[in-house]
Amino acid sequence: MAALLLKGVSIASIDGVLFDKDGTLSHSEPNLLKLAEQRIKTAVDLWSATGDASQSRCLEETLRKAFGMHQSTLHPGGTLAVAAREDNILSMATVFCLFELTWTEALNLAHNCFEGVDQEFGCSHQPSPLLPDAGKVLQRFQDGGLLNAVISNDTSRGIRRFLDHHQLSSRIASIWSADDIPRKPDPKAVDQLCRRLGISPQRCALVGDAETDLQMAIDADIGCVIGYTGGWSLPPDLPSAEHLLDHWSDLELDSDT
Ligand SMILES: [Mg+2]
Repeated sequence: MAALLLKGVSIASIDGVLFDKDGTLSHSEPNLLKLAEQRIKTAVDLWSATGDASQSRCLEETLRKAFGMHQSTLHPGGTLAVAAREDNILSMATVFCLFELTWTEALNLAHNCFEGVDQEFGCSHQPSPLLPDAGKVLQRFQDGGLLNAVISNDTSRGIRRFLDHHQLSSRIASIWSADDIPRKPDPKAVDQLCRRLGISPQRCALVGDAETDLQMAIDADIGCVIGYTGGWSLPPDLPSAEHLLDHWSDLELDSDT
């Protein structure tokens, strides 16, 4: 058990912390924007080969909106920032339906697009950098006796690649990925991750940058729900946060506890 301090003020007594990855530990926005551009270009190319090429520009703009892109920023609450890959495929397929494809045609085209981008660019994506002091907070918490876990809608492979790249795997007691059932934001995902860790949700903090993360934490009876706002160009709106955190250096443990 340890007292969690935010800017020097005790906010909870906890045994563990569940961390979201993208936009919370990971500075994901640049890589996600690059990925979105590749998917949109591939989608438009595939569409133009089979559909009405005169609507390509309109399709491109609609896909940008669907993914939450605005100029050179990504909406932190948008589909690409928050949702799992499978949900992003469905989102793209829905856009194709707006351009008069059947659901079967739309789903096939969206799958072909995502797989094409994976094959062409999949190995070229370096894991995103850490957000400032995110690695230090994991070390500080582990050294203070807390259990750290990651709960993310990235794949298990993506999470492990990120942690290995930043030499943080030994700091993380467990992960819950999009490969686990149910995936977040189902509150049972939190419940089952806490069971794996052997601690109760009430004795846990959860830190996330999406409103869906925080609502899930509240529904799962997490003891301390923290919204992280420092991971995006546009700070996320997090009305369900009990506490807001702008920088990891503001979060510490009380060493006297
Ligand atoms: Mg996130």
